[in-house]
Amino acid sequence: METKYIFVTGGVVSSLGKGIISSSLARLLIARGYRVTIQKFDPYINVDPGTLNPYEHGECYVTVDGHEADLDLGHYERFTNIHTTKANSITTGRIYQNVIDKERRGDYLGKTVQIVPHITDEIKRNVKQLGLTGNFDFVITEIGGVVGDIESLPFLEAVRQLRWELGENSLCVHLTYVPFIAAAKELKTKPTQHSVKKLQELGIQPDVLVLRTEHDINADMRRKIALFCNVAPDAVIQSIDCPSIYEVPLAMHAQHLDEIVLRKMGVTPEGEPHMAPWLNFLQKMRDASEPVTIGLVGKYVELQDAYKSINEALFQSATYNDRKLDLRYIHSEKLNESNADELLSPLDGIIIAPGFGHRGIDGKFAALKWAREHDVPTFGICLGMQCMVIEFARDVLGLPEANSSEMNPLTPDKVIDIMEEQKSVSNLGGTMRLGAYDCQLKPDSLAAKAYGTTMVSERHRHRFEFNDEYRRRFEQAGMVCAGENPQTHLVEIVELPGKRWFLGTQYHPEYSSTVLSPHPLFMSFMAAAIEYRRQKADKAGK
Ligand code: GLN
Repeated sequence: METKYIFVTGGVVSSLGKGIISSSLARLLIARGYRVTIQKFDPYINVDPGTLNPYEHGECYVTVDGHEADLDLGHYERFTNIHTTKANSITTGRIYQNVIDKERRGDYLGKTVQIVPHITDEIKRNVKQLGLTGNFDFVITEIGGVVGDIESLPFLEAVRQLRWELGENSLCVHLTYVPFIAAAKELKTKPTQHSVKKLQELGIQPDVLVLRTEHDINADMRRKIALFCNVAPDAVIQSIDCPSIYEVPLAMHAQHLDEIVLRKMGVTPEGEPHMAPWLNFLQKMRDASEPVTIGLVGKYVELQDAYKSINEALFQSATYNDRKLDLRYIHSEKLNESNADELLSPLDGIIIAPGFGHRGIDGKFAALKWAREHDVPTFGICLGMQCMVIEFARDVLGLPEANSSEMNPLTPDKVIDIMEEQKSVSNLGGTMRLGAYDCQLKPDSLAAKAYGTTMVSERHRHRFEFNDEYRRRFEQAGMVCAGENPQTHLVEIVELPGKRWFLGTQYHPEYSSTVLSPHPLFMSFMAAAIEYRRQKADKAGK
Protein backbone atom coordinates (compact mmCIF):
# COMPACT_ATOMS: atom_id res chain seq x y z
CA MET A 1 0.00 0.00 0.00
CA GLU A 2 1.26 3.47 -0.86
CA THR A 3 1.93 5.59 2.22
CA LYS A 4 -0.99 7.78 3.13
CA TYR A 5 -0.66 11.12 4.88
CA ILE A 6 -3.09 12.42 7.47
CA PHE A 7 -2.76 16.03 8.62
CA VAL A 8 -4.16 17.11 11.94
CA THR A 9 -4.71 20.84 12.34
CA GLY A 10 -6.27 22.80 15.15
CA GLY A 11 -8.54 25.81 15.35
CA VAL A 12 -10.13 28.27 17.81
CA VAL A 13 -7.73 27.73 20.73
CA SER A 14 -4.63 25.75 21.53
CA SER A 15 -4.41 22.88 24.03
CA LEU A 16 -7.39 21.06 22.54
CA GLY A 17 -5.49 17.80 22.46
CA LYS A 18 -4.45 17.39 18.84
CA GLY A 19 -1.77 15.05 20.14
CA ILE A 20 -4.36 12.85 21.83
CA ILE A 21 -6.61 12.78 18.76
CA SER A 22 -3.64 11.95 16.53
CA SER A 23 -2.51 9.25 18.96
CA SER A 24 -6.01 7.80 19.26
CA LEU A 25 -6.42 7.60 15.51
CA ALA A 26 -2.99 5.96 15.27
CA ARG A 27 -3.95 3.43 17.96
CA LEU A 28 -7.10 2.49 16.03
CA LEU A 29 -5.26 2.12 12.73
CA ILE A 30 -2.54 0.04 14.39
CA ALA A 31 -5.24 -2.12 15.94
CA ARG A 32 -6.44 -2.71 12.38
CA GLY A 33 -3.02 -4.01 11.44
CA TYR A 34 -1.57 -0.91 9.76
CA ARG A 35 1.90 0.47 10.30
CA VAL A 36 1.53 4.01 11.59
CA THR A 37 3.76 6.81 12.79
CA ILE A 38 2.96 10.29 14.04
CA GLN A 39 5.08 13.39 13.64
CA LYS A 40 4.76 16.85 15.15
CA PHE A 41 5.57 20.12 13.42
CA ASP A 42 6.01 22.95 15.90
CA PRO A 43 5.89 26.50 14.60
CA TYR A 44 8.44 28.00 17.02
CA ILE A 45 11.95 29.12 16.15
CA ASN A 46 13.83 27.01 18.71
CA VAL A 47 15.70 24.39 16.70
CA ASP A 48 14.46 21.82 19.19
CA PRO A 49 12.58 22.12 22.49
CA GLY A 50 15.66 21.04 24.48
CA THR A 51 16.48 24.60 25.54
CA LEU A 52 12.89 25.42 26.54
CA ASN A 53 12.15 25.93 30.21
CA PRO A 54 9.52 23.39 31.38
CA TYR A 55 7.33 26.35 32.38
CA GLU A 56 7.16 27.26 28.69
CA HIS A 57 6.43 23.94 27.15
CA GLY A 58 6.20 21.21 29.75
CA GLU A 59 8.45 18.21 29.74
CA CYS A 60 11.15 17.73 27.16
CA TYR A 61 10.76 14.22 25.78
CA VAL A 62 13.76 12.29 24.48
CA THR A 63 13.68 9.83 21.59
CA VAL A 64 15.87 6.71 21.39
CA ASP A 65 18.07 8.39 18.80
CA GLY A 66 18.76 11.23 21.22
CA HIS A 67 16.48 13.97 19.98
CA GLU A 68 14.99 16.40 22.47
CA ALA A 69 11.38 16.58 21.43
CA ASP A 70 7.97 18.01 22.21
CA LEU A 71 6.06 16.18 24.93
CA ASP A 72 3.43 15.12 22.40
CA LEU A 73 5.93 12.53 21.17
CA GLY A 74 5.53 10.93 24.57
CA HIS A 75 1.79 10.56 23.91
CA TYR A 76 2.54 9.13 20.49
CA GLU A 77 4.78 6.46 21.98
CA ARG A 78 2.49 5.69 24.91
CA PHE A 79 -0.46 5.18 22.55
CA THR A 80 1.28 3.47 19.65
CA ASN A 81 4.04 1.49 21.41
CA ILE A 82 6.30 2.51 18.53
CA HIS A 83 9.55 4.46 18.95
CA THR A 84 9.70 7.93 17.50
CA THR A 85 12.91 9.54 16.23
CA LYS A 86 14.31 12.93 15.34
CA ALA A 87 12.30 12.78 12.12
CA ASN A 88 9.07 12.80 14.18
CA SER A 89 9.67 16.22 15.72
CA ILE A 90 10.32 19.22 13.51
CA THR A 91 10.29 22.92 14.35
CA THR A 92 10.29 26.06 12.25
CA GLY A 93 13.80 26.62 13.61
CA ARG A 94 14.98 23.31 12.19
CA ILE A 95 13.34 23.95 8.83
CA TYR A 96 15.01 27.37 8.59
CA GLN A 97 18.33 25.99 9.78
CA ASN A 98 18.26 23.32 7.05
CA VAL A 99 17.36 25.88 4.38
CA ILE A 100 20.00 28.34 5.54
CA ASP A 101 22.62 25.57 5.63
CA LYS A 102 21.71 24.65 2.07
CA GLU A 103 21.86 28.29 1.01
CA ARG A 104 25.34 28.64 2.55
CA ARG A 105 26.48 25.50 0.76
CA GLY A 106 25.31 26.99 -2.52
CA ASP A 107 22.66 24.33 -3.08
CA TYR A 108 20.19 26.90 -4.43
CA LEU A 109 22.53 27.85 -7.26
CA GLY A 110 22.24 31.59 -6.84
CA LYS A 111 18.45 31.70 -6.61
CA THR A 112 16.67 34.06 -4.22
CA VAL A 113 15.74 31.87 -1.25
CA GLN A 114 12.15 32.48 -0.16
CA ILE A 115 9.46 31.18 2.18
CA VAL A 116 7.59 29.89 -0.87
CA PRO A 117 8.93 27.66 -2.36
CA HIS A 118 12.10 26.98 -0.33
CA ILE A 119 10.74 26.86 3.21
CA THR A 120 7.55 25.11 2.11
CA ASP A 121 9.56 22.60 0.05
CA GLU A 122 11.72 21.84 3.07
CA ILE A 123 8.56 21.32 5.15
CA LYS A 124 7.17 19.00 2.47
CA ARG A 125 10.44 17.06 2.34
CA ASN A 126 10.22 16.58 6.11
CA VAL A 127 6.56 15.54 5.97
CA LYS A 128 7.41 12.82 3.46
CA GLN A 129 10.65 11.70 5.06
CA LEU A 130 9.11 9.00 7.26
CA GLY A 131 6.80 7.81 4.50
CA LEU A 132 9.75 7.34 2.15
CA THR A 133 11.33 4.82 4.52
CA GLY A 134 8.67 2.35 3.38
CA ASN A 135 8.06 1.47 7.02
CA PHE A 136 4.64 3.07 7.32
CA ASP A 137 1.22 2.78 5.74
CA PHE A 138 0.06 5.98 7.44
CA VAL A 139 2.02 9.04 8.48
CA ILE A 140 0.01 11.31 10.74
CA THR A 141 1.36 14.85 10.80
CA GLU A 142 0.21 17.08 13.61
CA ILE A 143 0.62 20.78 12.90
CA GLY A 144 1.24 22.63 16.16
CA GLY A 145 -0.46 25.94 16.95
CA VAL A 146 -3.80 27.26 15.79
CA VAL A 147 -5.03 28.02 12.28
CA GLY A 148 -4.76 31.77 11.80
CA ASP A 149 -1.42 32.10 13.61
CA ILE A 150 1.19 33.92 11.56
CA GLU A 151 3.81 31.30 12.31
CA SER A 152 1.84 28.30 11.10
CA LEU A 153 1.23 29.78 7.64
CA PRO A 154 4.18 28.10 5.86
CA PHE A 155 3.16 24.74 7.34
CA LEU A 156 -0.42 25.12 6.16
CA GLU A 157 0.75 26.21 2.72
CA ALA A 158 2.85 23.03 2.59
CA VAL A 159 -0.20 21.00 3.64
CA ARG A 160 -2.26 22.66 0.89
CA GLN A 161 0.35 21.74 -1.73
CA LEU A 162 0.73 18.21 -0.44
CA ARG A 163 -3.01 17.61 -0.48
CA TRP A 164 -3.06 18.72 -4.07
CA GLU A 165 -0.13 16.46 -4.97
CA LEU A 166 -1.22 13.43 -2.97
CA GLY A 167 -4.94 13.50 -3.74
CA GLU A 168 -6.75 10.61 -2.12
CA ASN A 169 -3.56 9.58 -0.33
CA SER A 170 -3.94 12.54 1.99
CA LEU A 171 -6.57 13.79 4.37
CA CYS A 172 -7.09 16.64 6.81
CA VAL A 173 -8.60 16.24 10.26
CA HIS A 174 -9.36 19.61 11.82
CA LEU A 175 -9.84 19.86 15.55
CA THR A 176 -11.85 22.76 16.94
CA TYR A 177 -13.60 23.83 20.10
CA VAL A 178 -17.31 24.23 20.69
CA PRO A 179 -17.70 26.44 23.76
CA PHE A 180 -20.67 26.24 26.11
CA ILE A 181 -22.01 29.63 27.15
CA ALA A 182 -23.27 29.00 30.64
CA ALA A 183 -25.51 32.09 30.85
CA ALA A 184 -27.33 31.13 27.64
CA LYS A 185 -26.99 27.39 28.34
CA GLU A 186 -25.93 26.99 24.74
CA LEU A 187 -23.16 25.40 22.75
CA LYS A 188 -21.75 27.74 20.12
CA THR A 189 -20.60 26.57 16.70
CA LYS A 190 -19.55 29.94 15.32
CA PRO A 191 -15.86 29.67 16.34
CA THR A 192 -15.72 26.33 14.49
CA GLN A 193 -17.27 27.83 11.39
CA HIS A 194 -14.77 30.71 11.48
CA SER A 195 -11.82 28.45 11.95
CA VAL A 196 -12.86 26.22 9.05
CA LYS A 197 -13.35 29.34 6.92
CA LYS A 198 -9.82 30.38 7.82
CA LEU A 199 -8.53 26.99 6.74
CA GLN A 200 -10.52 27.21 3.50
CA GLU A 201 -9.07 30.68 2.82
CA LEU A 202 -5.68 29.01 2.97
CA GLY A 203 -6.86 26.49 0.40
CA ILE A 204 -7.41 23.56 2.72
CA GLN A 205 -10.76 21.82 2.96
CA PRO A 206 -10.91 19.62 6.07
CA ASP A 207 -12.31 16.12 5.50
CA VAL A 208 -13.09 15.37 9.11
CA LEU A 209 -13.96 17.73 11.95
CA VAL A 210 -13.36 16.73 15.52
CA LEU A 211 -15.15 19.01 17.94
CA ARG A 212 -13.82 19.31 21.46
CA THR A 213 -16.65 19.96 23.84
CA GLU A 214 -17.70 19.65 27.44
CA HIS A 215 -21.33 18.91 26.51
CA ASP A 216 -22.97 16.56 24.05
CA ILE A 217 -23.36 18.10 20.59
CA ASN A 218 -26.65 16.86 19.17
CA ALA A 219 -27.21 15.57 15.64
CA ASP A 220 -28.89 18.79 14.47
CA MET A 221 -25.98 20.87 15.50
CA ARG A 222 -23.55 18.50 13.84
CA ARG A 223 -25.58 18.66 10.63
CA LYS A 224 -25.47 22.44 10.81
CA ILE A 225 -21.70 22.41 11.21
CA ALA A 226 -21.40 19.93 8.33
CA LEU A 227 -23.49 22.17 6.11
CA PHE A 228 -21.55 25.34 6.88
CA CYS A 229 -18.16 23.68 6.64
CA ASN A 230 -18.54 21.49 3.51
CA VAL A 231 -17.92 18.35 5.53
CA ALA A 232 -20.00 15.14 5.39
CA PRO A 233 -22.35 14.97 8.41
CA ASP A 234 -20.94 11.62 9.58
CA ALA A 235 -17.43 13.14 9.47
CA VAL A 236 -18.37 15.67 12.16
CA ILE A 237 -17.24 13.94 15.31
CA GLN A 238 -17.38 15.12 18.86
CA SER A 239 -14.64 14.66 21.37
CA ILE A 240 -16.30 15.16 24.69
CA ASP A 241 -14.15 15.29 27.86
CA CYS A 242 -13.24 11.75 28.93
CA PRO A 243 -12.21 10.68 32.43
CA SER A 244 -8.91 9.52 30.96
CA ILE A 245 -7.08 10.30 27.73
CA TYR A 246 -6.75 6.54 27.20
CA GLU A 247 -10.54 6.36 26.66
CA VAL A 248 -10.33 8.67 23.65
CA PRO A 249 -9.53 5.93 21.08
CA LEU A 250 -12.77 4.18 22.08
CA ALA A 251 -14.78 7.39 21.92
CA MET A 252 -13.38 7.99 18.43
CA HIS A 253 -14.07 4.44 17.30
CA ALA A 254 -17.64 4.63 18.61
CA GLN A 255 -18.16 7.44 16.08
CA HIS A 256 -16.31 5.49 13.35
CA LEU A 257 -13.38 7.89 13.03
CA ASP A 258 -11.07 5.09 11.86
CA GLU A 259 -13.56 3.79 9.26
CA ILE A 260 -14.32 7.29 7.96
CA VAL A 261 -10.63 8.07 7.59
CA LEU A 262 -9.95 4.80 5.78
CA ARG A 263 -12.89 5.17 3.38
CA LYS A 264 -11.98 8.74 2.54
CA MET A 265 -8.51 7.50 1.62
CA GLY A 266 -9.82 4.76 -0.61
CA VAL A 267 -9.39 1.85 1.80
CA THR A 268 -12.33 -0.39 2.64
CA PRO A 269 -12.28 -1.08 6.36
CA GLU A 270 -12.45 -4.76 7.19
CA GLY A 271 -13.69 -6.09 10.51
CA GLU A 272 -13.03 -4.41 13.79
CA PRO A 273 -9.79 -3.08 15.28
CA HIS A 274 -8.11 -5.51 17.66
CA MET A 275 -8.41 -3.51 20.86
CA ALA A 276 -8.42 -6.32 23.43
CA PRO A 277 -5.12 -5.47 25.18
CA TRP A 278 -6.11 -1.80 25.29
CA LEU A 279 -9.55 -2.66 26.66
CA ASN A 280 -7.91 -4.82 29.29
CA PHE A 281 -5.94 -1.78 30.47
CA LEU A 282 -9.08 0.37 30.49
CA GLN A 283 -10.97 -2.25 32.43
CA LYS A 284 -8.24 -2.37 35.06
CA MET A 285 -8.28 1.40 35.18
CA ARG A 286 -12.03 1.49 35.78
CA ASP A 287 -11.95 -1.34 38.30
CA ALA A 288 -9.10 0.04 40.37
CA SER A 289 -10.52 1.52 43.54
CA GLU A 290 -7.93 0.93 46.24
CA PRO A 291 -5.44 3.80 46.21
CA VAL A 292 -1.67 3.81 46.27
CA THR A 293 -0.17 7.11 47.35
CA ILE A 294 2.97 8.23 45.59
CA GLY A 295 4.75 11.52 46.23
CA LEU A 296 6.73 13.23 43.52
CA VAL A 297 9.39 15.55 44.91
CA GLY A 298 10.34 18.18 42.36
CA LYS A 299 10.52 21.89 41.71
CA TYR A 300 8.04 22.19 38.84
CA VAL A 301 5.09 20.85 40.79
CA GLU A 302 2.78 23.73 39.85
CA LEU A 303 3.00 22.50 36.30
CA GLN A 304 1.92 18.90 35.82
CA ASP A 305 3.15 18.77 32.23
CA ALA A 306 6.73 19.18 33.46
CA TYR A 307 6.70 15.56 34.68
CA LYS A 308 4.28 14.20 32.09
CA SER A 309 6.05 10.93 31.31
CA ILE A 310 6.65 10.16 34.99
CA ASN A 311 2.97 10.77 35.78
CA GLU A 312 1.92 8.47 32.98
CA ALA A 313 4.45 5.76 33.88
CA LEU A 314 3.19 5.85 37.47
CA PHE A 315 -0.40 5.74 36.33
CA GLN A 316 0.23 2.78 34.02
CA SER A 317 2.10 0.79 36.66
CA ALA A 318 -0.52 1.54 39.33
CA THR A 319 -3.26 0.44 36.93
CA TYR A 320 -1.53 -2.83 36.05
CA ASN A 321 -1.05 -3.40 39.78
CA ASP A 322 -4.83 -2.90 40.20
CA ARG A 323 -4.51 0.30 42.14
CA LYS A 324 -5.81 3.81 41.70
CA LEU A 325 -2.91 6.25 41.61
CA ASP A 326 -3.07 8.97 44.24
CA LEU A 327 -0.22 11.19 43.08
CA ARG A 328 0.89 14.01 45.32
CA TYR A 329 3.27 16.69 44.22
CA ILE A 330 5.67 17.84 46.87
CA HIS A 331 7.47 21.07 46.21
CA SER A 332 11.17 20.46 46.77
CA GLU A 333 11.69 24.12 47.74
CA LYS A 334 9.19 23.78 50.56
CA LEU A 335 10.55 20.53 51.95
CA ASN A 336 13.13 20.44 54.74
CA GLU A 337 14.22 18.19 57.59
CA SER A 338 11.70 19.66 59.99
CA ASN A 339 8.61 19.11 57.82
CA ALA A 340 9.74 15.95 56.00
CA ASP A 341 7.94 13.68 58.42
CA GLU A 342 4.64 15.52 58.08
CA LEU A 343 4.82 15.74 54.27
CA LEU A 344 6.24 12.32 53.51
CA SER A 345 4.78 9.94 56.07
CA PRO A 346 1.39 9.62 54.24
CA LEU A 347 3.23 8.28 51.18
CA ASP A 348 3.63 4.66 50.10
CA GLY A 349 6.41 5.51 47.67
CA ILE A 350 8.53 8.51 46.73
CA ILE A 351 9.85 9.67 43.36
CA ILE A 352 12.76 12.08 43.37
CA ALA A 353 12.35 13.96 40.11
CA PRO A 354 14.86 14.84 37.42
CA GLY A 355 15.93 18.44 36.98
CA PHE A 356 18.59 20.99 36.35
CA GLY A 357 20.23 23.58 38.58
CA HIS A 358 20.39 24.25 42.26
CA ARG A 359 16.84 25.36 43.03
CA GLY A 360 14.98 22.93 45.27
CA ILE A 361 17.93 20.60 45.65
CA ASP A 362 18.04 20.74 49.47
CA GLY A 363 14.45 19.55 49.64
CA LYS A 364 15.44 16.51 47.59
CA PHE A 365 18.24 15.75 50.06
CA ALA A 366 15.85 16.12 52.99
CA ALA A 367 13.35 13.79 51.33
CA LEU A 368 16.03 11.22 50.57
CA LYS A 369 17.45 11.21 54.08
CA TRP A 370 13.98 10.78 55.52
CA ALA A 371 13.07 8.07 53.00
CA ARG A 372 16.30 6.17 53.55
CA GLU A 373 15.95 6.30 57.32
CA HIS A 374 12.28 5.32 57.24
CA ASP A 375 12.82 2.70 54.57
CA VAL A 376 10.10 3.93 52.21
CA PRO A 377 10.23 2.70 48.59
CA THR A 378 12.12 5.43 46.74
CA PHE A 379 12.93 5.91 43.10
CA GLY A 380 15.44 8.57 42.00
CA ILE A 381 15.44 9.55 38.36
CA CYS A 382 18.40 11.32 36.74
CA LEU A 383 18.98 14.31 39.04
CA GLY A 384 17.01 12.28 41.60
CA MET A 385 19.60 9.49 41.34
CA GLN A 386 22.43 12.01 41.57
CA CYS A 387 20.84 13.40 44.74
CA MET A 388 20.68 9.84 46.15
CA VAL A 389 24.42 9.57 45.62
CA ILE A 390 25.18 12.99 47.14
CA GLU A 391 22.93 12.50 50.16
CA PHE A 392 24.46 9.09 50.84
CA ALA A 393 27.98 10.54 50.52
CA ARG A 394 27.17 13.30 52.99
CA ASP A 395 25.35 11.23 55.53
CA VAL A 396 26.91 7.77 55.29
CA LEU A 397 30.36 8.29 53.78
CA GLY A 398 30.92 11.31 56.01
CA LEU A 399 31.69 13.75 53.22
CA PRO A 400 29.64 16.78 54.30
CA GLU A 401 30.65 18.81 51.25
CA ALA A 402 29.88 16.11 48.72
CA ASN A 403 28.05 17.58 45.77
CA SER A 404 27.61 17.59 42.03
CA SER A 405 29.90 19.96 40.17
CA GLU A 406 26.68 21.26 38.58
CA MET A 407 25.63 22.65 41.98
CA ASN A 408 29.06 23.59 43.33
CA PRO A 409 32.01 23.44 40.96
CA LEU A 410 34.43 24.15 43.82
CA THR A 411 33.39 21.34 46.15
CA PRO A 412 36.27 19.05 47.21
CA ASP A 413 34.08 15.95 46.81
CA LYS A 414 32.50 15.95 43.38
CA VAL A 415 30.74 12.64 43.70
CA ILE A 416 28.76 13.69 40.64
CA ASP A 417 30.93 15.32 38.02
CA ILE A 418 30.86 16.52 34.46
CA MET A 419 31.70 13.91 31.87
CA GLU A 420 35.14 14.32 30.33
CA GLU A 421 33.78 14.65 26.79
CA GLN A 422 31.28 17.37 27.79
CA LYS A 423 33.84 19.63 29.44
CA SER A 424 34.61 21.62 26.31
CA VAL A 425 30.95 22.14 25.38
CA SER A 426 29.59 25.65 25.84
CA ASN A 427 26.71 25.68 23.37
CA LEU A 428 23.64 24.46 25.27
CA GLY A 429 21.53 23.03 22.46
CA GLY A 430 21.77 19.25 22.20
CA THR A 431 25.07 18.94 24.06
CA MET A 432 24.01 16.45 26.65
CA ARG A 433 24.33 12.70 26.78
CA LEU A 434 21.11 12.02 24.96
CA GLY A 435 19.21 9.01 23.76
CA ALA A 436 19.41 5.29 24.38
CA TYR A 437 22.51 3.58 25.73
CA ASP A 438 23.02 0.02 26.85
CA CYS A 439 23.15 -0.77 30.51
CA GLN A 440 24.55 -3.99 31.95
CA LEU A 441 22.88 -5.03 35.20
CA LYS A 442 24.38 -6.94 38.12
CA PRO A 443 22.62 -10.32 38.01
CA ASP A 444 21.42 -10.33 41.62
CA SER A 445 20.38 -6.68 41.71
CA LEU A 446 16.90 -5.31 42.30
CA ALA A 447 17.05 -3.82 38.81
CA ALA A 448 17.89 -7.17 37.17
CA LYS A 449 15.04 -8.81 39.05
CA ALA A 450 12.63 -6.10 37.95
CA TYR A 451 13.68 -6.26 34.31
CA GLY A 452 14.04 -10.03 34.23
CA THR A 453 17.24 -9.59 32.19
CA THR A 454 20.77 -8.23 32.63
CA MET A 455 21.11 -6.07 29.53
CA VAL A 456 18.78 -3.15 28.84
CA SER A 457 18.79 0.00 26.77
CA GLU A 458 17.45 3.22 28.23
CA ARG A 459 17.24 6.89 27.32
CA HIS A 460 19.41 9.61 28.81
CA ARG A 461 19.36 13.37 29.10
CA HIS A 462 22.09 14.74 31.32
CA ARG A 463 25.56 16.24 31.47
CA PHE A 464 26.79 14.99 34.83
CA GLU A 465 27.72 11.48 35.95
CA PHE A 466 28.52 9.38 38.97
CA ASN A 467 32.23 9.97 39.65
CA ASP A 468 33.91 6.59 39.31
CA GLU A 469 36.73 7.58 41.68
CA TYR A 470 34.29 7.16 44.55
CA ARG A 471 32.73 3.91 43.41
CA ARG A 472 34.65 1.66 45.84
CA ARG A 473 33.82 3.81 48.83
CA PHE A 474 30.14 3.76 48.00
CA GLU A 475 30.09 0.02 47.48
CA GLN A 476 31.96 -0.60 50.74
CA ALA A 477 29.36 1.49 52.56
CA GLY A 478 26.49 -0.44 50.99
CA MET A 479 25.38 1.59 47.96
CA VAL A 480 25.63 -0.81 45.03
CA CYS A 481 26.33 0.31 41.48
CA ALA A 482 23.85 -2.13 40.00
CA GLY A 483 24.05 -1.09 36.37
CA GLU A 484 26.76 0.35 34.15
CA ASN A 485 27.37 1.15 30.54
CA PRO A 486 29.21 -1.86 29.08
CA GLN A 487 31.52 0.30 26.96
CA THR A 488 32.29 3.32 29.14
CA HIS A 489 31.55 1.76 32.54
CA LEU A 490 29.63 4.87 33.55
CA VAL A 491 27.38 4.09 36.50
CA GLU A 492 23.72 3.98 35.45
CA ILE A 493 21.95 2.55 38.51
CA VAL A 494 22.55 2.75 42.25
CA GLU A 495 20.69 0.67 44.83
CA LEU A 496 20.60 0.17 48.57
CA PRO A 497 20.02 -3.59 48.85
CA GLY A 498 19.11 -3.54 52.55
CA LYS A 499 16.07 -1.37 51.91
CA ARG A 500 12.58 -2.22 50.73
CA TRP A 501 13.10 -0.55 47.38
CA PHE A 502 15.68 2.18 47.05
CA LEU A 503 16.99 2.66 43.55
CA GLY A 504 18.14 5.49 41.32
CA THR A 505 18.70 5.55 37.57
CA GLN A 506 20.89 8.00 35.72
CA TYR A 507 18.62 7.39 32.75
CA HIS A 508 14.91 8.15 32.29
CA PRO A 509 12.87 4.94 32.34
CA GLU A 510 9.64 6.96 32.19
CA TYR A 511 10.16 7.77 28.50
CA SER A 512 9.69 4.16 27.49
CA SER A 513 6.70 3.24 29.62
CA THR A 514 3.63 2.75 27.43
CA VAL A 515 0.03 1.69 27.93
CA LEU A 516 0.66 -1.74 26.49
CA SER A 517 4.20 -2.15 27.93
CA PRO A 518 4.45 -0.51 31.33
CA HIS A 519 8.06 -0.06 32.41
CA PRO A 520 9.47 -2.91 34.55
CA LEU A 521 11.13 -0.57 37.06
CA PHE A 522 7.93 1.40 37.59
CA MET A 523 6.03 -1.89 37.91
CA SER A 524 8.49 -3.14 40.52
CA PHE A 525 8.54 0.20 42.39
CA MET A 526 4.75 0.28 42.43
CA ALA A 527 4.53 -3.30 43.71
CA ALA A 528 6.93 -2.36 46.52
CA ALA A 529 4.88 0.73 47.38
CA ILE A 530 1.69 -1.36 47.50
CA GLU A 531 3.37 -3.95 49.71
CA TYR A 532 4.66 -1.21 52.00
CA ARG A 533 1.16 0.25 52.24
CA ARG A 534 -0.16 -3.16 53.19
CA GLN A 535 2.51 -3.56 55.88
CA LYS A 536 1.70 -0.12 57.30
CA ALA A 537 -2.00 -1.03 57.41
CA ASP A 538 -1.25 -4.37 59.11
CA LYS A 539 0.88 -2.63 61.69
CA ALA A 540 -1.86 -0.12 62.37
CA GLY A 541 -4.21 -3.11 62.81
CA LYS A 542 -6.53 -2.05 59.99
N1 GLN B 1 21.13 18.18 35.89
C1 GLN B 1 21.59 16.83 35.83
C2 GLN B 1 22.60 16.60 34.73
O1 GLN B 1 22.70 17.37 33.80
C3 GLN B 1 20.44 15.88 35.72
C4 GLN B 1 19.62 16.05 34.47
C5 GLN B 1 18.26 15.42 34.56
O2 GLN B 1 17.71 15.18 35.64
N2 GLN B 1 17.63 15.19 33.43
O3 GLN B 1 23.35 15.65 34.77
